[in-house]
Amino acid sequence: MIPIAKPLIGEEEKKAVLEVLESGIIAQGPRVKAFEEEFARMCGVKYAIATTSGTTALHVALLAHGIGDGDEVITSPFTFIASANSILYTGARPVFVDIDSKTFNIDPNKIEKAITKKTKAIMPVHLFGLPCDMDPIMELAKRYNLIIIEDACQSHGAEYKGKKVGSFGTGAFSLYPTKNITSAEGGMITTNDPVIAEKCNVIRQHGMRRRYYHDELGFNFRMTDVHAAIGLAQLRKLERFNEARIANAAYLSANLRGVEVPFVPKNCKHVFHQYTIRVPNGKRDALQAYLTENQIGTSIYYPIPIHKQTFYVKELGYNQTLPEAEKAASEVLSLPVHPALTKEDLDKIILTVNSFMER
Ligand SMILES: *Cc1c(COP(=O)(O)O)cnc(C)c1O
Repeated sequence: MIPIAKPLIGEEEKKAVLEVLESGIIAQGPRVKAFEEEFARMCGVKYAIATTSGTTALHVALLAHGIGDGDEVITSPFTFIASANSILYTGARPVFVDIDSKTFNIDPNKIEKAITKKTKAIMPVHLFGLPCDMDPIMELAKRYNLIIIEDACQSHGAEYKGKKVGSFGTGAFSLYPTKNITSAEGGMITTNDPVIAEKCNVIRQHGMRRRYYHDELGFNFRMTDVHAAIGLAQLRKLERFNEARIANAAYLSANLRGVEVPFVPKNCKHVFHQYTIRVPNGKRDALQAYLTENQIGTSIYYPIPIHKQTFYVKELGYNQTLPEAEKAASEVLSLPVHPALTKEDLDKIILTVNSFMER
């Protein structure tokens, strides 16, 4: 079976974990600090704050900006549930704006109509490794005085006009095993704002500035040094991993027939967390079954847009039609693109897809 994702854990990661275990400092310690510093440098920001997951990174970032009860946050309906759930955790309400059919990202032309007096922030999600169209989004944020929380959980190292994602507003990254780099579980917040950085640091450890003095409600969202050691070793391979993903994607796009391959805008560096095609004419599920039969792992990201998820409809009363997100959900299929693929794997994927689409 060619898997849809494969974490690449090498000797460096194993050695780094053993060093931490032998050092006796295993909770949030010097490795977390080193990981934060290197992550901030990779992203081109002043501060990075490690947490336990991408979800908690988003949650803490929203709280640090004071988002809560009665606020609205504009985001994409075509993303992993954590983007919107992190908004719910704060007491705010996610407001979904339809996506652009070519990029699968939020359509900047449709955002302004969704802005109300309650709108506090926009959460662009850089889906599949492709940055959102940030110029018009930043322009709106400036005009309406809105906060930008970037969900960069799928786009470590991606660039828009030469600028790294996570450096436009406050960024949140996931370090889950299937992401472009992993710390097993983990998350990272990025920002240039020293006040936000300090708030994030306090919120992740029980609202504590001075030991056992608690100024506000916080959480235990601390990363351990064991996870940071893995993350640090992975971060040093990020560039290499991303180059391999980009090369694999280019090879697939040059050779696949009968399907719509991913669109890469000229001003973006797409880091291909996922390689997501559109399969027209209702053939998607049959193609997926055929690929499974032929030992090729695939996945549908995402079969149901968030505004159609049961909890959002039944409990929260969402009742919206967002045609592009719904169409994408019925047509997308993600093929393996990860750095562990061989040329034989790629050729097998191409041959299998093409022979199905041509018959
Ligand atoms: C993975 C992911 C998250 C959540 O990250 P976890 O580390 O799994 O909590 C949030 N948003 C998007 C778009 C993701 O892909």
